[in-house]
Amino acid sequence: MNIFPENKLLIATHNTGKLEEFKYLLKDLDLKILSSRDLNLDEPNETENTFIGNARIKSKISCLQSNLPSLADDSGLQVHALGNKPGVYTADWAFTDEGRDFKKAMHRVWNELIETKKQEPFTANFICTLVLTFPNGNEEIFEGIVNGTITWPMRGRDGHGYDPIFIPDGHKRTFGEMTNSEKNKISHRSIALKKFISFYMNRIN
Ligand code: IMP
Repeated sequence: MNIFPENKLLIATHNTGKLEEFKYLLKDLDLKILSSRDLNLDEPNETENTFIGNARIKSKISCLQSNLPSLADDSGLQVHALGNKPGVYTADWAFTDEGRDFKKAMHRVWNELIETKKQEPFTANFICTLVLTFPNGNEEIFEGIVNGTITWPMRGRDGHGYDPIFIPDGHKRTFGEMTNSEKNKISHRSIALKKFISFYMNRIN
């Protein structure tokens, strides 16, 4: 039995950047990708204090409202010397009255690291937790982690979140200095999505 009726998958996000990354990474699958924005679904508040908890909120609500298998992600940066902060509050650190300001958020990470008086390297990771909910209530969880270090000053595009201060292990350049396709090969989101893809391939074959 195909657990993806009509080959439809809902990506439970209102974030167009994230949606593009999902579409790119899932482009080789025979799946019709829809988003919460396409279906005009509610954008729930992320009230949990874990990545799984917040991804589950988004995935469950979108599944209930659309009656489609719904995949949601919650992601963030964990800096070890800061006790894994900003963690689930990664997006919140960029909050300003005028919208999100990631330069301000990256300055906060660096300033807090300096205040710890600890020595470099400042190890960190990006984590992405995906929750897939089916209309019958079944749930699958996929996780991707990329380890690296925090560097200063910022290097590269400041387009996506904290990319300019994160150097993935085994590389010399920050995520911000990489092309999208370079980053997509190694990112936390792509690691988690590869796990989803292998689940999908096992279920349809
Ligand atoms: P949420 O998953 O929408 O709650 O937001 C996660 C936060 O982590 C966002 O503010 C992103 O900027 C940040 N983040 C997640 N993945 C990345 C990444 O690959 N590069 C830079 N920042 C990221």
